[in-house]
Amino acid sequence: MHHDTGIGHPERPARIEAVVRGIMNSGSLVDHLSPEPAPIELLTTIHDPSYVGALEQFCAAGGGAIDADTAAVSASWEAALRAAAAGPAVCDAMAAGAADLGYVAMRPPGHHATHNRAMGFCLFNNVAVTAAHLRAQGSRVAIVDWDVHHGNGTQASFYSDPDVLYVSIHQQGIYPGTGSLEDVGKDAGLGHNLNIPVPARTGGTFYRRAMEDLVVPVVSQFEPDWLLISSGYDGHADDPLAGLELLAGDYGYMAHQLASIVAPGSSVVFLEGGYDLDALEAAAAATVQGWLDPDYPIDPATAGVSTDWYLERATDVVGRFWRL
Ligand SMILES: [Zn+2]
Repeated sequence: MHHDTGIGHPERPARIEAVVRGIMNSGSLVDHLSPEPAPIELLTTIHDPSYVGALEQFCAAGGGAIDADTAAVSASWEAALRAAAAGPAVCDAMAAGAADLGYVAMRPPGHHATHNRAMGFCLFNNVAVTAAHLRAQGSRVAIVDWDVHHGNGTQASFYSDPDVLYVSIHQQGIYPGTGSLEDVGKDAGLGHNLNIPVPARTGGTFYRRAMEDLVVPVVSQFEPDWLLISSGYDGHADDPLAGLELLAGDYGYMAHQLASIVAPGSSVVFLEGGYDLDALEAAAAATVQGWLDPDYPIDPATAGVSTDWYLERATDVVGRFWRL
């Protein structure tokens, strides 16, 4: 709440309150965990030590604009350390049987942060730091990223790692400009990085089909020990920053699909983007309900533009590496 990005910035403290309202209204029994700041050694599994040191100094000096989108104040340092520590802390608690689903409702978000650069409102890559923590324990980790933007930092972190599967569905042609269908990983990680770009005005019909026809079969075959969701809600129709037409029920549907293929207690949802407060609240509630309620009621999907061609192209590429 003290990570102040400036007046009028969409990535603002009220987002956390909205997401927490959604989680609390989901009807689930919720247990809170407040993580300690991450030790530097946890951050440097993903980030360049000189970048970590420079960011600490920048914040200590009062902060300011890092780039056109990304800002920090003094308190941002501790916020970023706690956001990065939250995923590992939640996973450790869940490994001891604490919960059926983890939800890291933290900011700043993370999936754009790279090895040596803050960008796109992100300081440290929270989901990547968590995946590195789980990898160090010998676990196989799948990351599904349904934020409307491509998670360039996450992709780069594990591009040649066969034990981390990264799958992103995102709007093509918008920030940060990465996430081509042809970026499929390299070396031992070939086929373990999958991008599914979609055009503006894509709605729930495409996302539901992509989840059923591509993401669910691939994640099932990968057989992850842990499933992490980079859960931005900026693909929602009401979001001011992007141009897709998802509704809260679409996130619930996707969560329900993924929950059906992994063991309880092995999945953690990470808040990424999402800038309309009502959409954040409703979509966060739907994510938790869809994940945990075996009788989750399916809302009819929104139509959106015709996207068969995009689904066929993605199926061609994904099908080179996985049985569909
Ligand atoms: Zn986003």
